[in-house]
Amino acid sequence: SGKKLYLGMDFGTSGARYALIDNEGSIHAEGKREYPLYMKEEKMDWIQSWKDTLFLLLDDVPASLRPAVASIAIDGTSATTIIMDSTSGRPLCRPFLYNESCPDALPLVKSIAPAKHTVCSGSSTLCKLVSWWNSYDSSKESAVLLHQADWLLWLLHGKLGVSDYNNALKVGYDPEMDSYPSWLLSQPYSHLLPSVQAPGTKIGCIKEDIRTNFGYPKDCVICTGTTDSIAAFLAARATQPGKAVTSLGSTLAIKLLSTRRVEDARFGVYSHRLDDKWLVGGASNTGGAVLRQLFTDEQLAKLSEQINPLEASPLDYYPLQAVGERFPVSDPNMEPRLHPRPENDVEYLHGILESIARIEAKGYKLLKDLGATPVEEVITSGGGSKNEKWIKIRERVLGLPVCRADQTEAAYGAALLAIKGSS
Ligand code: ADP
Repeated sequence: SGKKLYLGMDFGTSGARYALIDNEGSIHAEGKREYPLYMKEEKMDWIQSWKDTLFLLLDDVPASLRPAVASIAIDGTSATTIIMDSTSGRPLCRPFLYNESCPDALPLVKSIAPAKHTVCSGSSTLCKLVSWWNSYDSSKESAVLLHQADWLLWLLHGKLGVSDYNNALKVGYDPEMDSYPSWLLSQPYSHLLPSVQAPGTKIGCIKEDIRTNFGYPKDCVICTGTTDSIAAFLAARATQPGKAVTSLGSTLAIKLLSTRRVEDARFGVYSHRLDDKWLVGGASNTGGAVLRQLFTDEQLAKLSEQINPLEASPLDYYPLQAVGERFPVSDPNMEPRLHPRPENDVEYLHGILESIARIEAKGYKLLKDLGATPVEEVITSGGGSKNEKWIKIRERVLGLPVCRADQTEAAYGAALLAIKGSS
């Protein structure tokens, strides 16, 4: 058949997945790989592990479908940074992982960046770059910085130094100006910064040797990607301003598509660009982790069945795993509040679910107060989204329709970017 297919790959924190879809969004194949554990000098050799995983996934795609793959896009963990030598194509040091902190670089970064800029966090890509720059003394002239997704895509297309504006946000790229700011370009390491495209932009065709080894077509296009959390948002297909995705896993994260960009460092609120719109996000420390401390998943399902979601619970909690909250209230000293505990566990759970729903509502209210497009519809994902009673409670507390996302895999979102880049 002549049907074209689009391949998305997600390189997450614990493993990698692929999704192969057609232009109507139907999945033709999908799969998963754990990262193989390779050690080098007593440390995890991530470069070899990610590279092998990429080629294992290319080989996991059913051979009969490979000739139909029109384009490929990849997402990776945000702020995972690889500094490589542009002449040899080799990494100059081991990769900096997404959650790794480089506090040694913070004073310098804070002295050059505007106050409260996203780069002013020890784990930002810019802190990683500055930390490397200050501790290495060779190969600095030919070095180039890539994010994890950029590097994996480079293995496929071979053009060095290309990124997207979602991955580049934490190195300091300004998505509104569509350029690096002058305070960054004036730094001695600015020649390491990759060029930046919109996510889902055609970069080039797949390299000849890979194409012939695996049986992908000659005109298979490789496109810029995004970060893993944005790819997961794209998967839910909230494409109109006012549509939002609440992810209720161990923690509660909300993401809202807005016509206006909103930033507030006090609450950890910032916006990613998505073409002509903004993806505004905030993350609370409340969420399912507290539930898991109190109940097993089976108990949760059983107790939830007995809740009447149309009735408001009078219990007012603030479920937290540890002291401190950032969004929608900024209070590093906030204590978890889970008392008084009623004797009846159904009432207790009802109170907790309702309290988390109130925090979700407060989150959307805060984004609106900060200037974002008001939320009209919530799509939900994560372990908590399985709970039908909780969805009903949330609809009542939010005063909005809440539905479960059909697709939640970041790999699916990356495949949507592959569609975008193929046209
Ligand atoms: P993670 O953020 O760790 O990936 P998941 O999306 O896998 O989390 O969701 C796991 C969370 O979902 C757990 O914290 C668990 O308490 C919660 N959970 C599981 N089943 C239910 C349920 N029926 N109702 C509410 N929460 C649930």
